[in-house]
This record gives sequence, structure tokens and C-alpha cells, in this order.
Amino acid sequence: MDSSNNTPVLIVGAGPVGLALAGDLGWRGIACTLIEKGDGAIEQPKMDLVGVRTMEFCRRWGIADWVRDAPYPGDYPQDYVFLTALNGYELGREPFPGRAFEACPPESPQKRERVPQDMFDPILKRFAQSFPHVTLRYHCELTGYEQSANGITATVRAPRSGATETIAADYLIGTDGGGSTVREIAGIGMSGNPALTYTTNVIFRCPDFPSLHDKGKGYRFIFIGPEGTWLTIVAVNGADRFRMSVVGTPDKVSHSEADIRAALERAMGRDFDYDVLSVMRWVRRELVADSYSSGRVLIAGDAAHLNSPTGALGMNTGIQDIVDLSWKLEAVLRGWGGERLMASYEAERRPVAIRTVTASTENLKRMLSTRSERPPPPELFQDGSEADAIRKDYGAWFTETMRHEWFMNGFHLGYRYDDSPIVWPDGTPPPPLETSTYTQTARPGARAPHVWLADGRSTLDLYGKGFVLLRLGVDAPAGEGIVGAAKARGVPLTVAPLDEPAVLDAYQRRLVLVRPDGHVAWRDDVEPADPAVLIDVVRGASPSASS
Ligand SMILES: Cc1cc2nc3c(=O)[nH]c(=O)nc-3n(C[C@H](O)[C@H](O)[C@H](O)COP(=O)(O)OP(=O)(O)OC[C@H]3O[C@@H](n4cnc5c(N)ncnc54)[C@H](O)[C@@H]3O)c2cc1C
Repeated sequence: MDSSNNTPVLIVGAGPVGLALAGDLGWRGIACTLIEKGDGAIEQPKMDLVGVRTMEFCRRWGIADWVRDAPYPGDYPQDYVFLTALNGYELGREPFPGRAFEACPPESPQKRERVPQDMFDPILKRFAQSFPHVTLRYHCELTGYEQSANGITATVRAPRSGATETIAADYLIGTDGGGSTVREIAGIGMSGNPALTYTTNVIFRCPDFPSLHDKGKGYRFIFIGPEGTWLTIVAVNGADRFRMSVVGTPDKVSHSEADIRAALERAMGRDFDYDVLSVMRWVRRELVADSYSSGRVLIAGDAAHLNSPTGALGMNTGIQDIVDLSWKLEAVLRGWGGERLMASYEAERRPVAIRTVTASTENLKRMLSTRSERPPPPELFQDGSEADAIRKDYGAWFTETMRHEWFMNGFHLGYRYDDSPIVWPDGTPPPPLETSTYTQTARPGARAPHVWLADGRSTLDLYGKGFVLLRLGVDAPAGEGIVGAAKARGVPLTVAPLDEPAVLDAYQRRLVLVRPDGHVAWRDDVEPADPAVLIDVVRGASPSASS
């Protein structure tokens, strides 16, 4: 039995979420084993937008440069183009610069990056593998597990040889995707809409693509025919590879090779040369797991929630999950986490997933509003100045409608844990949840705001390992009670005195306790009457402050 057969944390599934969890645990010094039934090769990259919050985590992990330097060309324009065909009429356009030219939003030291899964997964893998206490095992499939009060015994199989073995773990985390075996064995159901559309994705190679039409380079082309929105094409690697998606409907359909070729030629508006590299038939869903755990088994990522990719919130939400989960695993394994801590994972993350899957479907409905709400008038596809005017009007409406999907920092950055049992409310009313816009707040439960410090760091650079007690302003209380209570319970905590007025402006209180995941746990102008109670609530050892 090698050391990977006995591990504190067994992670099942090395997609981006499992890889990120292995990396984050490794970064925390926690040993773990990540198993993956496949070989890690990605035939069909799914995600390609690494959101701004995920980039903030990459910054924390010291790998933001790796993502920036990924080979998706920085100067490839990221326009969204709405059109009847590539050699047809343009209806509207949302211009975006190449990723090298996009600025960071004022609320973040990072910006989103266009880096597809076949570039991003290897980055996360390299990060995870940089820690000797992280073991990655490919060709290793989970087939079953049993749990007792003390731990898990998992059965795994080598898919090729069929050889089986067992792995003992303190915790088992299912990051094994939408069809999660971990979730199924735990008996956890999913609720929502299991079939929004039956969609076919086709990766094709066409180095000459931009020169075959007059619409220029862009990231995403959305095609509107007489039946409404029917197809999208995205520039998957900013070079020779593209992904066509035949959007489909809720009716089950399996597009044939002939359908695929006909769709490609209809989109181009003429015959052209291309190679089909891979085809993936998939179902767009709106589902959230009814529970995120069963005893020592927890789920994250697509295993816990499935949404339409409209809004790029799938993997990005999954990575938020594991950042919430990872420090809690560390806390319980190191002994300073209370018995209520693991339950706070579901309390914090499941409401975020419900909001996310719903918003993603709303985006899909907007994209498909051309099918029902406002079907295209016949003139859209005709020549002439009268038709031009109708096209302009229709295109302006659709461009405006689609804007919701391109600007979603209210989701990428604005998710909050207002009602969490391990967050200490400060009595202020919750600000409204935003969609396109994002207003920073240091209200307990929120992502701690980014402010540039005089030494060139971001406030976010202070967070990650352990709790941080911010002492803001020259006359901030010493916070000795909190420091002492944390020390008494073995809770890692550092004190950060900052006198930049901009930080106090953003955080609004002189003492702010920030959790290891970068969310605010508590804030006030004075020390709490009993700091031990505060520390017990935020480490999950006492009932919530509001109960
Ligand atoms: C067309 C499309 C575009 C998308 N674009 C974006 C985007 O831009 N941004 C974004 O954030 N999201 C996007 N998404 C969603 C995103 O791809 C998923 O949310 C993400 O891949 C989920 O990651 P995961 O690691 O949870 O699961 P997966 O990526 O599904 O990985 C699960 C892994 O578990 C392995 N596995 C399964 N069962 C077992 C087992 N029993 N034992 C061992 N291993 C097992 C699988 O082989 C797989 O490697 C998109 C999705 C689609 C379909």
C-alpha cells in the first residue's frame, strides 16, 4: 500500500474543480490524493472564460502569470457578433478588445481571461503537482465507497486492467462532474430543470476562417435565422480552432454528421474547407444538488450544480465552491475547526448555486428570445434600405438584450454569505444583489474589498492562509482579545494594521476579521464583549450569532 492509499482527503475527478481543490489543499500544506478515471487529455474544451474571481484566486496561488501567459493570443479581438450568416448580414456587435488590452475592473487587481480548458487544466495540474504532498492518479476510477464515523473506504479500479484497490480517507470530495458517482452513491438528488436544450458542440479546424467572410475576428458569433437564434461559433484557441454549437431545443435530438456539415455551411453562407475534430452531444441543464454532503462525503463543481454556460458561471462557481471548502477541510484536519464548520459549506454555497443556475437560464432565454418574444421579421434576410433599417432596429434590441450575459460581475464578484451560520452579522441591511454591476462591500459575508495599498499590493494579497484581523486607521483598537481567543483555540490569525484612508473607506469599520477564503467574518469599531464567542462562531464551534 503506498501513501496515496491512505490520505486525509480523497478527491474524485480531475476536471478544473478537482484540480483547483488539490492545488488549494496543497498550497495549505494539506496532503490529498486526486483520482481521475481518464488520462487528463481534453478532446473538447468546454470552459474558456476564467472569471475575475477565479483570477483573484490564481493571484493568491501565485499562478496568475501562468494564466496570463497561456497561448490564447492576447490581441485576438473578443467581439460578440450577431448575424444572419458570416457571408450574410451583421445585425449587431458588442466589441471587446483582445484580452491583453482589457483593463482590470476598479474593484479587482485582476481581470477575466480567455483561456480555454485545454490550456487552463494543465495550469491547474502544474500548480497541484508543485506540492509533494499532493498525489495525482490518472486511469483511476472510483467505483464505490463506504463511510463510518471516522472515515471513508473507497474502492477504485484501473479502467484498462480492471485491477481494484481501496483508498482510506478522512474526507471524500466528489468533483466528478454532472454524472457524479460520488453524488449518486450518497443518494443525493438534484432539483430543477434537467433539459433546457439538447445541444451539439463541434470543434472544427479552419486556419483561414477569418478570411472567408467580412465580419472580422471575434470571439463569439451568434446566428439568427428565420427560426430565431439557432447556432453559435466561438474562437476556441484564437487561432485555427473553432467551436460550433447547434443550440437545439428541449426536444431530444441527435444531430447527424450530415446535419453538422449542413449547419456549418449555412453559418458560413457558402461551402468551405474545414476538418471536424470532435463532436460532443450534451444537454443543457438547470440543476442544483438537494444537499452538498452526506457525512464525510462532500460534492463541488458540476457534481453539485449544472447550469447553461450562458454567463460563464459553471467552472467559476465550482472554483468558488472549493475555495470555500478547502480552508474548512484544513481547519477540521488540523483540529481548530468546530463541529459545525463543514455544514456551513452547504449553507454558504448552495444558495449561490441556486442564484447562479437561475441567472444562467435567464441568459439563455435572452439569447433565445428571438424564437418567441420577438421572432425575426422576414426583412432581416432581404436586401434593400428598408430592410437595413429593420435590421438596425432589431440588431440594437438584441445587442442590448444580450448585454446582461457579457457583464456579470454581480455574480463573479458579488456572491455573498449573508445568512451563513459562521458569519457574524453587523446589523446593517444587506445591499441589493447585483447582476451586471458590482459594488464592493465589507458587510460580513461579502468578499473582502480590493483596495490598492501604498506599497503596490492589493488588500486581497493579505488573505488566503489563516484569518486576518485588519486594524484600520491610526486609532484602531489593538484587537488583543481577538488575537488571544484565536491563539487559545489554535486558530491561525495574523494582524494587519493599515492606515490608508481608502481601506477604511472601503471596509467602514476599524476592526475587520477576514476569513481564509477572503470573505468578511465580522467587523466593528470596537472589540466584541467576549472575543472567544466570536472566534467560536467563525470557526464553526458555536451556534451562529443570530440564533
Ligand atoms: C460549451 C460549454 C462552455 C462552457 N464555458 C464555460 C466558461 O467559459 N466558464 C465557466 O466557468 N464554465 C464554463 N462551462 C462549464 C464548465 O465547463 C464546467 O462547469 C466545468 O467543466 C465543471 O468542472 P468540474 O471539474 O466540476 O467537472 P468536469 O469538468 O466534468 O470534470 C469531472 C472529472 O471527473 C472525472 N470523473 C467522473 N467520474 C469519475 C470517477 N468515478 N472516478 C474518477 N474520475 C471521474 C471525469 O473524467 C472528469 O475529468 C462551459 C460548459 C460548456 C458545456
